[in-house]
Amino acid sequence: MARVFNFSAGPAMVPEAVIQKARDEMLDWQGSGMSVMEMSHRGKEFMSIAEKAEADLRELMAIPANYKVLFLQGGASSQFAMVPMNLLRGKTGADYINTGAWSKKAIAEAKRYCEVNIAGEGDGSNVPAQNALQLSADAAYVHFTPNETIGGVEFPYLPETGDVPLVADMSSTILSRPMDVSKYGVIYAGAQKNIGPAGLTVVIVRDDLIGETIAGTPSMFSYQTHVDTDSMYNTPPTYGWYLAGLVFEWLKEKGGLAGMAAINERKAGKLYAAIDNSDFYANPVALDCRSLMNIPFTLANADLDATFLAEAKEIGLVTLKGHRSVGGMRASIYNAMPEEGVDALVSFMADFEKRNG
Ligand code: PMP
Repeated sequence: MARVFNFSAGPAMVPEAVIQKARDEMLDWQGSGMSVMEMSHRGKEFMSIAEKAEADLRELMAIPANYKVLFLQGGASSQFAMVPMNLLRGKTGADYINTGAWSKKAIAEAKRYCEVNIAGEGDGSNVPAQNALQLSADAAYVHFTPNETIGGVEFPYLPETGDVPLVADMSSTILSRPMDVSKYGVIYAGAQKNIGPAGLTVVIVRDDLIGETIAGTPSMFSYQTHVDTDSMYNTPPTYGWYLAGLVFEWLKEKGGLAGMAAINERKAGKLYAAIDNSDFYANPVALDCRSLMNIPFTLANADLDATFLAEAKEIGLVTLKGHRSVGGMRASIYNAMPEEGVDALVSFMADFEKRNG
């Protein structure tokens, strides 16, 4: 068996220990005589899995008691609609900070339901400063994307929005470091980067924001529906929920989010140093907005891109091609990417430069 280091932006690597545990429990989960994927979501076995996963996530992120945690389907993309449907609460507009491709998608969807005020914009390589934000006093909420997965642009600060709820698309940064949940109205994330397999979407929502939806909101798009039923209004993504729970257990063993942050900073630091210490590689992002999770970089000569990718693949470093809208390379180094993977990439980059630079 040869496992590769997979630098995909998502679906991305899952910790090997988690996959092994899932393998060991695949046919017979803890003496139940069945696989988790065969269990009734309402049976006591799955209920215990679901409750443990939520409790562990609450512990890891120190989620206050007045926040609900929902395990949903539909991806972060469904949240682009669910957020305005649930949070407008009689208001007509919301503020959005635009820092890249995923902000733009959230904005385009919100425009179907409300007036969108662009409160600030980055230039693709940075984020607007707090004092440049033009927040509207009557906004229902302020939406931002703490980490732009494609551009590799991460907020170095938490936008201050006063009493207006802050909504964060944390798809590519959740669980990468400790964060103060109490500063947010809603946090949402697709699972396929730092949580587990695709198909599960985690939503953390402050309870006073739940209960009022715009006319015509489908039941499945109302947070209240899922709060009332403990995310079991319909059949939830049971296997993804179970795997997420295994990832949460693994994170606790790794020292929680503070432990992960230290590892993530070391990993990203090594890769940025490799890029910065060479004239052959470049990263276009402003120094203070560089992402810990997604690191795009270019080669001095783009004609070498294909060779770089092919040679990297040969030694087990895969999915390094940059997003089609950006070109170049992108190394996504989520929690599950071992430090050895980053070390292997850094040493391959140096070797490639020596031969081609
Ligand atoms: N937001 C961000 C920041 C993302 O990186 C992605 C997926 N790459 C999405 C939203 C869309 O997520 P999903 O595919 O789960 O709808």
